[in-house]
Formats: sequence, C-alpha cells, structure tokens
Amino acid sequence: MDPVTASLAELHDRLSSLADGEVADYIPQLASADPRTFGLALVSMSGNCYHAGDTDDLFSIQSVSKPFVYALAVSALGPTEVARRVGAEPSGEAFNAISLEPGTGRPANPMVNAGAIVTTSLVPAADARDRFERIRACLSAFAGRSLDVDEDVYRSEAATGDRNRALAYLMRGAGSLAGDVDETVRTYFRQCSIQVRVADLAVMAATLANGGVNPVTGDRVIEEPVAVRALAVMATCGMYDGAGEWLLRVGLPAKSGVSGGLIACSPARFGIAVHSPPLDRAGNPVRGVLALTELSERFALHLMHQP
Ligand code: GLU
Repeated sequence: MDPVTASLAELHDRLSSLADGEVADYIPQLASADPRTFGLALVSMSGNCYHAGDTDDLFSIQSVSKPFVYALAVSALGPTEVARRVGAEPSGEAFNAISLEPGTGRPANPMVNAGAIVTTSLVPAADARDRFERIRACLSAFAGRSLDVDEDVYRSEAATGDRNRALAYLMRGAGSLAGDVDETVRTYFRQCSIQVRVADLAVMAATLANGGVNPVTGDRVIEEPVAVRALAVMATCGMYDGAGEWLLRVGLPAKSGVSGGLIACSPARFGIAVHSPPLDRAGNPVRGVLALTELSERFALHLMHQP
C-alpha cells in the first residue's frame, strides 16, 4: 500500500469507532444518514486519487458548495463588484445568523447562509433555470464529472427553509440582494442539494489548491487570483464559528457542510475531503476535524509552518 493510502486507512480505522457528534436532523434525508459512514479522499496536484473507507456514498454537498459558487460569482463580476454586496469578515456567529453590516446591509461573508444566498443571486443568467445550470456546470467542472441534484433533498430544503427565506427578504429590504427572493432561495436550495461522493469533493478541493486548474481533467475552471480569493475566505470563514480554532490547529483553508462533508486545501500540494455525518457543536464533522488535525500535525501542513 502506498504511504498516502496507508495514512488515510490508518486514520479511518482509528477514528471509525468514535461515537461523538450529532447527525443534522432538520430534514429527513439528513436525519436518516448512517452515523458510521466515514470516507476520506485525497487528490494530488498530479491528479492521483487516494482514498479510504466509505467512498461510494452519495450525499448532498450543502455548504461545501459555497466557496465554489463564490469563485463563480467573482469570476463573472470581478472582486470589487462582489465585495459591494458581500463582505469578507468572519462573523463569529452561527452560519444562519440574522446579522447584516449596518449601513450597507451586506452579509458578513460568502460562507454564512446570508452571504451565500447573495453570491448565488450574483451569478449572471437569463433566468433562474439558467442560473442554476451555470452553478451546476461550474461545480461539475470543479469535480471533473457531471453532478446532479438530489430532488428529495431539494424538496425538503425548500419546504423547511423559512429562515433562509427570511434572511433573503431582510437582505432585499437592506439593498444587498436584488431580484426575486423566492427564485434566488430556490436556486440556493438546489445548489445545496447537488449530490457528490467524497472523491468529488477531493477533486474540487484540489482544483482550488492547484490555482483553479482541475488536476484530474487538466481543465482551467477559474483564474488563479480567484482561487486565491476563495481559499482566503475559506481560511478565515470556512468552518462556521469554529473557524478561529481550526486555523490555529489545522492551518488550512477549509469548508464544511451539514451533511458531514469537509474539504481542506493544501495550496500547491493537494485537496482532501472527508465525509462523516456526525457534527460537533459548531456544525463541523467530528471525525473530519480530528482527521485533519492529526494529518496537519503529522505532516506539518499548517500554512504558517516554515517549510
Ligand atoms: N441547506 C443548508 C442551509 O442553508 C446548508 C447549511 C450548511 O450546510 O451549513 O440551511
């Protein structure tokens, strides 16, 4: 067994028995996830894929979509225009907090729900269908294969998403969100409902780590400065209200989601993804946080570490 696979397999075997954390339960499709599911995948800059554990499971991407749609919006409109509508400061509050910048009405950053709803709305398109198709095509290019929506998850998200709808109305009132609220929020729910495997997330993370070129397909998905921007926002705001502690201990740009997905990027080295549904109090996957903490320490991956 090669040393990368051996490290992933060792982590998988050791952390599998952990029983900490709670599976998200706000919709039945997430509540019914098997808490024992645990998969890890790593993709190098030469496009080699390594994995361990449960890698066949399909799950909804949820908030792990946010940095990629942010990158799409910045690619289309440029950083200045996007920054007029959404900030880049860690909020220090929960991901679904109702808090907008006084004066501008901007949400704190594109990794919290309010900011992600604005970024989704900024993707230029003829109509809502076209906007979602652009988002789906972009996420697919990051993953290197065509991704689809889990329609059951989408229906449940749409049926239970009043808090996100309320956030969107507030932002339209405050002037940071333009356009039809219901259409925008539905597009955001479809984006969260895109189905992935853990290896897809690893390729997506590796594409950001590789300056925007998918290391498996060789296709440039976004320009390098846009990838740098997405990584910077992930570093400061990607791990909900656990972002500061994460940067301290792991020191890599990362993004987690409620279905138990977690990506981390080691720039110019690799992208890694973990899928494990039980979440800690900040909403981050327990096994994913532990796995990345150990890998970072063992291989001195922290960005502030002297090479
Ligand atoms: N669909 C979820 C929401 O917007 C995503 C949340 C998450 O993954 O953090 O509430």
